[in-house]
Amino acid sequence: ARETLFQAQKMEAVGQLTGGIAHDFNNLLMAILGSLEIVSKRLPYDAKISPFIENAVQGAQRGAALTQRMLAFARRQELEMGPVDVLETVRGMRELLERVLGPSVFITTRFPLSLPHALTDKAQLESALLNLAVNARDAMPTGGQIVISAAHRKIGRAANNAVKPGSYVVLSLIDQGEGMDEETVSRATEPFFTTKGVGKGTGLGLSMVHGLAEQSGGRFVLSSEVGRGTTAELWLPLAEAETATEMPSPVTAESGMT
Ligand code: ADP
Repeated sequence: ARETLFQAQKMEAVGQLTGGIAHDFNNLLMAILGSLEIVSKRLPYDAKISPFIENAVQGAQRGAALTQRMLAFARRQELEMGPVDVLETVRGMRELLERVLGPSVFITTRFPLSLPHALTDKAQLESALLNLAVNARDAMPTGGQIVISAAHRKIGRAANNAVKPGSYVVLSLIDQGEGMDEETVSRATEPFFTTKGVGKGTGLGLSMVHGLAEQSGGRFVLSSEVGRGTTAELWLPLAEAETATEMPSPVTAESGMT
């Protein structure tokens, strides 16, 4: 629990820092853009100078667009909790995932016929899914299969489990990639922890997924074996308490190859 608090504080710090920087940067860029506009209006057109001014304007505009994205990231820390249809969310993301992952990876889904709604933030769940899928692809440089499954699972009081007793929707992603050793697994959700090298990984993907699980009242569980692959499970509590007689629905295979 202490570690979780520490992580949450780090993420909040990242959000505040990002928001602060983005805000100040935006003001500076607006000043630059304003000045450039005055300069370009006052100067007579000069084929030698004007392209440089145009470049500067474009650079500043790109910078402004980037700061907008950073501000959006900082604001995203605020979750919008509600009942989420996890099956519909994954199905809705499928085309995007396939486009992002590229042709060497294929996605198989194992979904039950129906699933109770989970309590979480839908937009964040979509980002979490994207982060997990990108990690799975990165772990399989020569390509391979990603299995995405969803299930309704109950954890009883007696169960000795990382997850609190209760009823959950579990979204899992299994890859057959290079896997992680124990040390990497234990550090993977730390903000800024990455093994991908400078310019490739930010180390924020799994900390975001972990944060979403915790803030939803669930759990993010990562298990991995070097050379065999990784299973990432997002445990999300149900949106509504269920009746005691309800049974988990059977699992069916869905749309294999793509
Ligand atoms: P990033 O992807 O930017 O490195 P993440 O927080 O998403 O940041 O992941 C942290 C690290 O965890 C990765 O750099 C990688 O070492 C490890 N990791 C995450 N997912 C997987 C996976 N599916 N297979 C192997 N290693 C993984």
